[in-house]
Amino acid sequence: MEYRTQIVSLAVVITIIFNFFRNKRMPFLSTKLFAAFLTSAGLNIVFELWSLYTLIHTDEVLPWLNRLAHQFFIGTLDLTIFFLYLYVDVKEREQRRYTGKELFLRMIPLLIAFVMVLFGGIHYYVGEDGMYSYGTMAMTIYISVAVYMCMILVRLFRKKICFVPHERSTITIGIAVWLGIAVLQFLYPHLLLSSMALALMTLFVYISMENPREYMDCDMESVFSQKAYGLVVSEKLESKQTFWIVNVALMNERLVRTTYGNSELAHILEHIAKAMSSYTGEDAYHSHRRMVAVILHDKKECEQLLLDGLVEAIQKELVVDHEMADLRLTVLECPTYATTYLEVENVFDFVNGNQFDANGRVQFVINQDMVEKYQYYETVEKLVQKAIKDDGFEVFYQPIYSTKNQKFVSAEALVRLKDKETVGFVSPELFIPIAERRGYINELGQIIFEKVCKFYKENNLQNLGIEYIEVNLSGKQIVDLRLPEQLLACMEQYELTPNCINLEITETAAVEAEEILEQNMKRLQDAGFGFSMDDFGTGYSNLSKMEEVGFDLIKLDKSLIWPCFEEDSEGAKVILNSCVDMIHRLGRHIVAEGVETQEQADMLTEKGVAYLQGYYYSRPLPENQYLEFMEKAAK
Ligand code: C2E
Ligand code: CA
Ligand code: CA
Repeated sequence: MEYRTQIVSLAVVITIIFNFFRNKRMPFLSTKLFAAFLTSAGLNIVFELWSLYTLIHTDEVLPWLNRLAHQFFIGTLDLTIFFLYLYVDVKEREQRRYTGKELFLRMIPLLIAFVMVLFGGIHYYVGEDGMYSYGTMAMTIYISVAVYMCMILVRLFRKKICFVPHERSTITIGIAVWLGIAVLQFLYPHLLLSSMALALMTLFVYISMENPREYMDCDMESVFSQKAYGLVVSEKLESKQTFWIVNVALMNERLVRTTYGNSELAHILEHIAKAMSSYTGEDAYHSHRRMVAVILHDKKECEQLLLDGLVEAIQKELVVDHEMADLRLTVLECPTYATTYLEVENVFDFVNGNQFDANGRVQFVINQDMVEKYQYYETVEKLVQKAIKDDGFEVFYQPIYSTKNQKFVSAEALVRLKDKETVGFVSPELFIPIAERRGYINELGQIIFEKVCKFYKENNLQNLGIEYIEVNLSGKQIVDLRLPEQLLACMEQYELTPNCINLEITETAAVEAEEILEQNMKRLQDAGFGFSMDDFGTGYSNLSKMEEVGFDLIKLDKSLIWPCFEEDSEGAKVILNSCVDMIHRLGRHIVAEGVETQEQADMLTEKGVAYLQGYYYSRPLPENQYLEFMEKAAK
């Protein structure tokens, strides 16, 4: 059967075409060119079948019809190769569009081929061993394939960074296969293998570079992935046109995840994406762990959305869960307020982070004022980076009072930036999260820990009646597998035993209790470190988890204590009493934080709270002042 190869090849290409066009596609020029390549390849095989038919029936078919079939076949083959070249070329140009002249230059080999297709001679051979066509028209295939293949190879290897290695190898292998087949075809013209070469090339490129599923989010149907978002935003920024990113963040993602699990979280985000997409008519992207975005190109449309209440539309879509989903919508005009993808990410990170005071609003359009705040944040980041390099941190100590022994038995180590000139005092509440986000919290944690050990050792703190120092660990530090070894190495260096340190971790970090956290805690507890649960009452208490993970101390947050001293404090008192009672029954001691008045101290002492910490006793003090304070207190 003469049509066998062509029919199989056509089946392959049609399958790819079907899959490719059925899915959502990225809005890239290269994707459009791939679509053109694919369509042209499909048509080419159809025309090949037609030309094969006219060849077999040369005697019956009108000669001009036979010639026409061959013109279509050869013409589309030239065109297909041309599109493949443009596809690779545009990837190398990072999606930059062509000027008329640029495109014309690239078309020259194609135009020459077209002239030959129009006017070249074609002859047919039909013999016992098979059939084929030859002549100047048929020659154009070899010429245009060779020219464009060479140009493709130059593109692939000239600017290596534009292609990931597997992309480069895919196209190179595709070309090698194609060339091999072309040589075979040249030597044995009756084999008619062109369609096979084409189908293989299509398959290669599709699977490794243009599979639309690659850009879709793996947990959410018809939502583009973060990778796709990064590519699209970068491309748009590159093009310098103005566009608006509308981003919706699920602010209480952590609560949703810890209460309902990851699949429910994905489900809610998917609903948000669907609502945004149907409301705006644009594709939605899973832009970040807890955010979904759409990209708009019209200011009016953007303003309208906010007026019409996109947030309400999303909440409606969420039906069941809408009570629970805490949403924040932010609009960012690009490139006005962000010129690189990293800046886009940082601005959204900032507006949706806890360092940004939202004042209860759910809708923001990024403006100059916010950008300035963000820039302050960036300055702080640079300060932190510099401080890590140049020993720019110091540790303050806040005394902790024992109600039973009626003296100060411990202190909490609190980090401070030495530099107060650049931007004034910066709270660790601002710079610790920055260090976490930027990945240097481990280094910073090490610096703090070492300073505490050094201070403890050099001043023989145990002789001053200090039983242990409380050291804060960030939630990111505690899930770092290197942590136990690092802390133990430091203790060894200063010849200290771990029981002189109590590590504080926040309630939320403990509740999320990933496996590594438990593993690390166990390792450190076995070595002799104590643990305190920090900020009890601010997170989302998972009480059974708290019981599972053995804490020596529970630190009550000021937000549980202060309301008891305001008007109408009955409810607050019930809560505080129950918490104190429960913790005591579980056999744990309590540290009350934020004790500012004698009244508070008396009330907490009366309830049997073991330790008190707060401005009433002392603010956090630099090393020497702290030593003076302890000496005075001992008298
Ligand atoms: P935290 O662990 O809850 O620390 C207690 C915070 O409350 C400290 O703020 C302390 O100065 C403040 N404070 C103490 N007594 C009172 C009081 O009576 N009234 C009021 N209004 N505040 C009081 P600071 O030093 O600004 O630290 C803020 C947060 O930054 C800390 O909260 C902790 O989460 C983090 N942090 C501080 N130092 C470190 C550190 O060395 N490592 C890590 N990972 N985090 C740290
Ligand atoms: Ca603390
Ligand atoms: Ca605390």
